[in-house]
Amino acid sequence: MYCADIGGSFVKLGIADKPGEMRSLGQVPNPTRDWPALVSLLREFTASAPPGMPLAISIAGPVDPVTHVVPLANIPCADGRRLGPELEVLLDRPVLVANDADCFALAEAMLGSGKGHPVVFGIILGTGVGGGLVANGRLVRGAGGITGEWGHGPIQPRMLSDGTRIEPFRCGCGRMGCTDAFGSARGLEKTHVALGCEPADSRAIIDAWQTGQPEAARSVRAYVEMLAGPLGLAINLTGASVVPVGGGLGGSAPLLAALNAELAPRIFHKGAPILVPATHGNMAGLLGASLLGSGAL
Ligand SMILES: [Zn+2]
Repeated sequence: MYCADIGGSFVKLGIADKPGEMRSLGQVPNPTRDWPALVSLLREFTASAPPGMPLAISIAGPVDPVTHVVPLANIPCADGRRLGPELEVLLDRPVLVANDADCFALAEAMLGSGKGHPVVFGIILGTGVGGGLVANGRLVRGAGGITGEWGHGPIQPRMLSDGTRIEPFRCGCGRMGCTDAFGSARGLEKTHVALGCEPADSRAIIDAWQTGQPEAARSVRAYVEMLAGPLGLAINLTGASVVPVGGGLGGSAPLLAALNAELAPRIFHKGAPILVPATHGNMAGLLGASLLGSGAL
């Protein structure tokens, strides 16, 4: 299977001799405003593939399973196209397309930290808040392809349990107080500022928390409390028994431990901590794409 992970800045390429066994071919800049250039890039990449071999694509937008339309604000030249069907004609081969958070969840469910669990809710905590749901080895692809996207909808509390008031943050979608607005890396930074601290990078805030700085500890405490509400609800809704966490913030073991402690009284799942670090890092998109032809769609 030839695989491409099409992101807002780069296109990662790889060839999977078997699902999950990926030979990475590196990455090239994504010509995000030039459709013919993007098609040429994919045509050159697949030129050596045997006739009829599919191209599997992970892409940074929800893929409607009925219309195949993908809204792609970060990749204007492909925005609103019926990406799979259009590329099948242009490349003269089958093309499978899935959302990158869905590919991440699939890779973790089948080959990573969710392996062996019937229901896996893979989440991203990084530049944005996203997710994908895999049940019994298949992606759950609901209306509009948005299953597992728990990042949007006004839900930010105005007051924390210790009485601290925080006005909801504006989200990129236009609403106030979405999980994406306070649960992303930028959300942690906004929380830090909203609590009266000097602006700081999310990693610096977490590092300062780990060295015992009280202001950073307060910001992380607020972040964890705000995020545990919608995340606990999402976990209860999906019935997942494991939640692999990817994205920049997902790489912090102390942050996952703090979130697990805050989640425990809010979820029905008992036993081992439900949030686990993702195992495949930035290869998850390509690996997930390599599984799309194995009955996962
Ligand atoms: Zn939003």
